[in-house]
Amino acid sequence: MPETLLDLLIVPTWLVPVEPAGVVLSEHALGVRDGLIAWLGPRHQAPSAHQVQELPGCLLAPGLVNAHGHAAMTLFRGMADDLPLMTWLEKHIWPAEARWVDQAFVATGTQLAIAEQLKGGITCFSDMYFHPQVACEQVERSGMRAQICAPILDFPIPGAATPEEALSQAVALVDSHRQHSRLSIAFGPHAPYTVSDPHLEQVRMLAEQLQVAVQMHVHETAFEVEQAVAATGERPLARLARLGLLGPRFQAVHMTQVSDDDLQQLVAYNASVVHCPESNLKLASGFCPVERLWQAGVNVAIGTDGAASNNDLDLLGETRTAALLAKAVAGSATAMGAHRALRMATLNGARALGSAPCIGSLEVGKAADITAFDLSGLAQQPVYDPVSQLIYASGRDCVRHVWVAGKALLRDGQLTTLDEPALVASARAFGERIAAAR
Ligand SMILES: [Zn+2]
Repeated sequence: MPETLLDLLIVPTWLVPVEPAGVVLSEHALGVRDGLIAWLGPRHQAPSAHQVQELPGCLLAPGLVNAHGHAAMTLFRGMADDLPLMTWLEKHIWPAEARWVDQAFVATGTQLAIAEQLKGGITCFSDMYFHPQVACEQVERSGMRAQICAPILDFPIPGAATPEEALSQAVALVDSHRQHSRLSIAFGPHAPYTVSDPHLEQVRMLAEQLQVAVQMHVHETAFEVEQAVAATGERPLARLARLGLLGPRFQAVHMTQVSDDDLQQLVAYNASVVHCPESNLKLASGFCPVERLWQAGVNVAIGTDGAASNNDLDLLGETRTAALLAKAVAGSATAMGAHRALRMATLNGARALGSAPCIGSLEVGKAADITAFDLSGLAQQPVYDPVSQLIYASGRDCVRHVWVAGKALLRDGQLTTLDEPALVASARAFGERIAAAR
């Protein structure tokens, strides 16, 4: 057997590598070997492969990266809708979490989230939820890729009676996943208003020592910023800068409030912003000025947030919303074009999670995390620019195949590592139990 033999050669109608930016290749193919992208070039020059997969009418792109969410909250989907953030959290979500969230809840909820995300073309997600070791086990079993953020709050949480316990669990998780090829662990201090300075200082020290990322909800609403300024005279982002939290491994989720000083700080520290437009719209939290951040050179990724505030984990739909909203907020139809939107949902997500050397674009040497979108449907015709068609005219039902590290986790729309009917049944059973107790 010649050494160059590929495991798999994928031959789509269009291939969008995302890097270089704005390129659409036709008559090209991509080769996978040992879980990596081993070859990419004109199809007539392709080396031989054990398996050749012809995908007429399909666009091959990097797998989508959902840079912020709370996976197990899928089991609270639709439980408390149409409420402002603090009422939603204090009166509904936090009491429900205190009552229902245990390891079994997190296992089922995370599985449900993984299944939904794979079916929607997502190959990597970031999660911030209780019992993070359970989420790690589910990611491990499913074959998906993830950043699991260990949650830190000042008060007791499911699985950790004190912030100190949560921190030591986070350190243990980092240690036990140090060599994992698909899982990375980050610290997830919840928000400036739920984590005090001493605990944030501990997070900073440990994250620095262990060289891991920190993801945090920051400036989600104007109210959050106003309250902090009224109480201390300091904006939350400025406080995080003073505490030494900001840096290239800092992921600021939401950022609907961005002053000129905030912008300067994000640029100076090279921190990433994770934009969650549909959650911000649904909770009337505000609008992240994506175009302004982008023009200033800030890395902006995109996330769905949890299914309880969205209410789906549809990153393709989220990207469409982001592209449309960016234009409205910037007052410019040229803001956030389709190609840039796809970049935000792939390579920028990978950059935010510190995984850009490994994923986020279709380049030789990167992991074979790939999604095939079928653009042959009636509502997608004719196809002038396949990326425009993907972002503006396609829903996630067009996702046909998904590979993570070269392994097919979705084949012809069917999950290969998760039992969909069994998952639907157990999610429904959780829902019935929760609804009956309300
Ligand atoms: Zn969130």
